Amino acid sequence: MEPKLFCQSCTMPIDNMAYRGTEKDGSKSSDYCKYCYKDGAFTEPDITFEGMKKEILKQLQQMNLPKGIIEKSLENLPNLKRWKKVKV
Ligand SMILES: [Zn+2]
Repeated sequence: MEPKLFCQSCTMPIDNMAYRGTEKDGSKSSDYCKYCYKDGAFTEPDITFEGMKKEILKQLQQMNLPKGIIEKSLENLPNLKRWKKVKV
């Protein structure tokens, strides 16, 4: 099954509620995963676009994903809500 919702910061699929970040009031975020977003704030507010790219690359490689999928995730990165305003 194709995931429908992706973290708008790191592209991780967040269809599963368990992977979603939390808002200040404890409700689940529908935009961000639990690694990026906690209690209504980014866990790494100062991370740059390039820094995030490196992080994701490292994580996806550790998951042994096919190269095509890794490239696709990185290609999608600039379109995510968190990075849209950032010039690449
Ligand atoms: Zn994330």
